[in-house]
Amino acid sequence: RLVEVESVSFEEDNNEVSLRPSNWDDYIGQEKIKKNLRVFIDASKKRKEALDHILFYGPPGLGKTTLSYLISNEMNTNIKVTAGPMIEKSGDLAAILTNLEEGDILFIDEIHRLSPAVEEILYPAMEDYRLDIIIGSGPAAQTVKIDLPRFTLIGATTRAGMLSNPLRERFGMHFRMQFYTHEELAKIIQKAAVKLGKSCEDDAALEISKRSRGTPRVALRLLRRVRDFSEVENEKYIHIKRCRYALDELGVNESGFDEMDINLLELLISNRGKPMGLSTIAAALSEDEGTIEDAIEPYLLANGYIERTARGRVASVKTYEMFRLSYPQSMKL
Ligand code: ADP
Repeated sequence: RLVEVESVSFEEDNNEVSLRPSNWDDYIGQEKIKKNLRVFIDASKKRKEALDHILFYGPPGLGKTTLSYLISNEMNTNIKVTAGPMIEKSGDLAAILTNLEEGDILFIDEIHRLSPAVEEILYPAMEDYRLDIIIGSGPAAQTVKIDLPRFTLIGATTRAGMLSNPLRERFGMHFRMQFYTHEELAKIIQKAAVKLGKSCEDDAALEISKRSRGTPRVALRLLRRVRDFSEVENEKYIHIKRCRYALDELGVNESGFDEMDINLLELLISNRGKPMGLSTIAAALSEDEGTIEDAIEPYLLANGYIERTARGRVASVKTYEMFRLSYPQSMKL
């Protein structure tokens, strides 16, 4: 059985205009990562070698997949895209690897979800460009070695901590994605608005940015919705008044929190300053622990709305202030 591997063009999975940047300069922000990558890309092009394996980690929607496409663009190579949960058996991975060509990029999203048996196949493939396949079982089992083309593995994960050590160590480069500043997101929004055939005024772009959890995927989703509101009104430009109206209608809080963020913060506040463990939070919100740790918490932690202590999570002073509540006496020093 062959695993589906998507050969990539710069399309997104819906029918709408793609908002994915198609060249290096349109990829805004993550400057440090881009600068480092630029050096490695130029060096390996000069040596005419495949790029070393790369690991991107960080919350969803920050541009890991997009950056991988852009790397393949810069390297002038094909990119094959798949995801950890799609590779069920070691044979599935073997099929993908043997179909690669010299210099190709293999992008595996959610790489922390590969099974141990599949990971085993990956070790020699990454290190020596070799596939070790065991044929038969018991004393008659034989290992057959197959040479692979020199390829680049790009792994993306929301949870670097869940990657096994041997796998993590086989990546030559590790990059942690950062949340975007309001100004960076505003630039992304302006460029995307043009692609959608609308221009977005500066203050409107900034307003959307502020409510986007530092995440391009959220910013672009909000932009599309705001655009709908202004289209219905036959407006040529997206302006601040319509933008505020639309975002309020959509229930997007002024600090960019969505419903899950608010639920989590309210839950912590209801505990009156006592730390709450991850499993209790997950049960109370009917959400799985992984989603809370990977997708919800990072933004709240990075912006100081919650704190992680040895005994669990607590809401910070900033959160109490946002809800216009007084900070519990027991927490004051
Ligand atoms: P991830 O793989 O980290 O979940 P994606 O690469 O799928 O995130 O990005 C989500 C969306 O945000 C894509 O539509 C992409 O076009 C946009 N995007 C992400 N990062 C940037 C960036 N730095 N500049 C412009 N657009 C971006």
